[in-house]
Formats: sequence, C-alpha cells, structure tokens
Amino acid sequence: MSNTKKILVLAGDGIGPEVMRQVRRIADWLAKRRSIGFDMEDGLVGGASIDANGFPLTDETMADAMAADAVLLGAVGGPQWDNLPFERKPERGLLRLRKDMALFANLRPAFVFDALVDASSLKPELVRGLDTMIVRELTGGVYFGEPRGIETLPDGTRRGVNTQVYTTPEIERVGRVAFELAAKRRGKVHSVEKANVMESGLLWRETIQALHDAEYPNIELAHMYADNCAMQLVRTPKQFDVVVTDNLFGDILSDCAAMLTGSLGMLPSASLGADDKNGKRKALYEPVHGSAPDIAGRDIANPLAMVLSFAMMLRYSFDMAEDADLIETAVKNVLSSGLRTADILQANTARVSTSTMGESLTRELDKLTS
Ligand code: NAD
Repeated sequence: MSNTKKILVLAGDGIGPEVMRQVRRIADWLAKRRSIGFDMEDGLVGGASIDANGFPLTDETMADAMAADAVLLGAVGGPQWDNLPFERKPERGLLRLRKDMALFANLRPAFVFDALVDASSLKPELVRGLDTMIVRELTGGVYFGEPRGIETLPDGTRRGVNTQVYTTPEIERVGRVAFELAAKRRGKVHSVEKANVMESGLLWRETIQALHDAEYPNIELAHMYADNCAMQLVRTPKQFDVVVTDNLFGDILSDCAAMLTGSLGMLPSASLGADDKNGKRKALYEPVHGSAPDIAGRDIANPLAMVLSFAMMLRYSFDMAEDADLIETAVKNVLSSGLRTADILQANTARVSTSTMGESLTRELDKLTS
C-alpha cells in the first residue's frame, strides 16, 4: 500500500484559490527538492460548489474529505451567495465538514514574527517573541447544548435559552490535545473556565486536573477564570504557552489572542478530530481569514496564513516537524527581508503581489537548503 499522504484541497471562494496556489508552489518545491510527494486532490466547497452543483458541499466531496489524510481549505463565501436560504449558504459547506469529521479541537496559534512586531496594537516589548496556542473545544458547550430556543411565556414575556453543557469525555479529549501539544512546546497549560460561577466550569476544572494528575504530571498546569484570562492576554500575553478552554470562551479568547499579532492575513488554524481505529486523526487546516471578496482576483491577498496552515498540516497530521520548521523559517526570513503584501506593508518595506510572495518563499527555501 502507498504511504503517500492524501490531501483534499478545497480552495473555495474569493481569495481562496489565489492563496492556495502559493501552497501548491511549496508542495511542488517539497516534491522536487525533498522528494516528498503528496496525493493532492481538488474539490469544490462553498459558493464554487453551489455554482457547479447547487449545494455548498456534495456527498461525494464529503466522502473524499472522510477518506483523506487531511483537508486543506481556503475560504468560503461572497456577496453573490448572501441571499440564498440558510441551508444553501456557502458557510454550510464548512459547517458540515466540521460536523461530519467531528472536529472537536480547534488550534489557533498566536505567533508574532519579529519583523511584524509593530503591527500589533500592543507595545512591541509585550508581544516580541509571543508564541501561544489557544485550544478551543469546538463541538460542545453552549453553542450546541439543549434545551435552546426562544419561547413566549404565558404573560407574553419572551425568553431566550441556551444551555452550557459538557461531559467528562468531551473535556478529557480536548484536554489531551492540549497536554500533548504542551509536551512538544514549553510544557505549560492554562485551563480556562468560570468555575466560580458555573457548574460546567467546575466540572471542567476538576476533569482537567484529574487528567493531568493521572496522565500528564510533568506538564505544568494552571487554572484561570476566563475574565482574568482575557485581561492577562492583553497585559502579559507571553506568560501563556497552551491555553485550553470551552467553545464559547475559546471563540472570544482566540480572536483576542490572534489580534495580538496584528494581521488577519498571517493567522493559520487547525481543527482536529478523534483518532479512528487505524490511529488516523481527522483534520482540517485553514486560514482564520475569510474569502475577502473586496480584494479577490487582484493578486494582492496575503498568502502567508494559508501557507502557515499547510505547515501546521505537516506538523500535526504528518509528523513532518522539520519541513514545517523550514517553511516557517522561510516565512520569517522573507518578512525580515522587507517583502510585504499590501495588508502588512510598513515604512521601508517593499510591496509584493500574492504570487511574488509565493515565489519569494520557494527562493528562500532553496537558500535554506542549499
Ligand atoms: P474576511 O476575513 O474575508 O475579510 C476581512 C478584511 O480583511 C477584508 O478587508 C479583507 O480584504 C481583509 N483580508 C482578509 N484576509 C486577507 C488576506 N489573506 N490578505 C489581505 N487581506 C485580507 O472577512 P469578511 O469580510 O467579514 O467576510 C468576507 C466573506 O468571507 C463573507 O462571505 C464571510 O461569510 C466569509 N468568511 C469565511 C470564513 C471561512 O471561510 N472560514 C471566515 C470568515 C468569513
């Protein structure tokens, strides 16, 4: 049987295809220069799939995603599909992928490249060298808990209800992801909840502590309330290595941490599922940004979030840390050399197109390996 890794490539809409082309360049470079071949198959998602098939994701593409070793996604959406019924909107394609692949752990790194330290809204000394990973539980909690809905009470008052609910296995599986990541990083986990006012938070705290004591005693564990974590993230963000938290707090804290780095065009993400019976973990990698219809088709989008998502795929799905490091170093060096896409342009830097940024990366990879 072939060991070639199978990647389903869903470039999607807007700037998705443009930034994905730069990943292809790097995959071609890996094949040519390091003899690492991938079986990359293209599929349609979002508006591109609606235009071709009438739906944002077909059953065939869903089956391809389930069979792949990893899925790489660009972005979905655009104004031309905004007025479709909810079930047919481009975003439904992405939600179905996340749901059917049972992607319960969302990894959002917040990493500040030295060359971009001034792009942060915080003082440079607070964010220089920042390297934090937020692990957000993605399939449980208040966004999915029952009962939910809006009802009208007998006296005519309306009442909206959502339910925050977690079970110990749900907390343990995302906790394991966090501890295992910390073991490969700086060995520190902050577990974040509101155990002071929420029973589900108390269960979260007790479960993470028990998991730590039983399986990861060598990892440093601290518990923190979510409101304090929000403050600490903008006060002394470098204290955090890995932060693990629920769906709601993770939604908010990961965006907060991301913005410490200053630019949407730089932010990758990974969403991981459970190991199947062959030990293979379902995984989807995508930039945090959307399809940016305002700049699509103009060869000006920043491809680095997409490229860094590809590097995360090499690291977390394929155990190719050396190649992931190489790509991340190439990004760092190209930025230090002063080349920038429009979104991260600063004084004394040179503006380049999406494709020139991609070419510069492969040239830098050549340099790094010569
Ligand atoms: P967006 O992330 O697409 O864009 C926000 C702003 O950031 C825009 O001004 C855009 O030009 C800029 N930007 C984003 N990525 C960039 C990049 N790589 N390089 C340079 N500039 C970049 O968010 P939005 O405008 O709110 O949404 C646009 C469309 O994308 C909508 O249809 C929305 O539903 C969809 N969306 C999709 C995803 C996804 O696919 N995961 C996420 C968010 C939004």
